[in-house]
Amino acid sequence: MVLTTEFERVELPLADEFTISRGSQSVAENVVVRVSDSAGMTGVGAAAPSRHYGETADTVEAVLPELLAVVEEVGDPHALDRIERRLRKTVHDNPAARAAVSIALHDLAAKRLGVPLYKLWGLDPDESPKTSFTIGLDTTERVREKTKEAVEAGYPILKIKLGTDRDEELLEAVRDAAPDTTLRVDANEGWTPREAVRKCELLAEYDVEFVEQPVPAEDPEGLAFVYERSPLPIAADESCVTLEDVPAVADRVDIVNLKLMKCGSLREATRMVHTARAHGLEVMLGCMIETNAAIAAACHLAPLLDYADLDGSLLLADDEYEGVDLTDGEIRLGDLDRSGTGAK
Ligand SMILES: [Mg+2]
Repeated sequence: MVLTTEFERVELPLADEFTISRGSQSVAENVVVRVSDSAGMTGVGAAAPSRHYGETADTVEAVLPELLAVVEEVGDPHALDRIERRLRKTVHDNPAARAAVSIALHDLAAKRLGVPLYKLWGLDPDESPKTSFTIGLDTTERVREKTKEAVEAGYPILKIKLGTDRDEELLEAVRDAAPDTTLRVDANEGWTPREAVRKCELLAEYDVEFVEQPVPAEDPEGLAFVYERSPLPIAADESCVTLEDVPAVADRVDIVNLKLMKCGSLREATRMVHTARAHGLEVMLGCMIETNAAIAAACHLAPLLDYADLDGSLLLADDEYEGVDLTDGEIRLGDLDRSGTGAK
């Protein structure tokens, strides 16, 4: 079969400047990938490269020709395992670039079969947890306003970015503006182990559900230290990037936060989910700041998850792709009226 491929860099302005403990951004650069078959059907995917993991739109664009050459050479959008294995051998260290190709191929394969992606996997759309909505760091007043807006928009779960010297003040503002909302906290490696234990005790007083990445990924002993002393469950994000990291963190966290842009493929994400389960871990699927061309695919894994953090496209000022309906945080896979990932 003849498959044709193309890619395009897109600049995605954010609705609001987005700040975490490591820095701020007002634009996200994604690279959209399209794979078309000879009947004119097109699968779409996107890379949302993260500098933290060594990728930029430039590195994605640099390796995509090699990756897409593999797709064209194999020439079968249903040979997903074979293509992904070869992609991994071709460029091992560029997971966001590989994820874009994986997503586009899965979209095309499901479209050719005329089913939404979750049906291709036999998943139950009614099992999807709701997604959280993220409140980035900002002045305390702005955090309070953003929280109010999110509550008014109907989001039942908020993820708060902390890791500052104003953590308690921010938390108080959020709790005040969202007294009945489920709160999760992401420190993005912002605390020392001892500080993290104190913060977890404080967060427990504000009825926070769990804490993500309290300490730097380079400090696995620190993560164990926090896990053993924290009154709250601990999730690993920066500490859990690939499949091999799942067993490595299993004795020091309760939850792993997987991302397509870290692990490089939809199939690898599925393997990570099952590996995590085998180690007694709960599973969250997160995202970068991403167009729906990427997020829509992640939504189809939602029935396998305990927690979803798939708000990447909700943070954009506008997105040329529509995806799975996430109004008020519900991942409405069952309402999809089109095949593939639903990105259009
Ligand atoms: Mg995180």
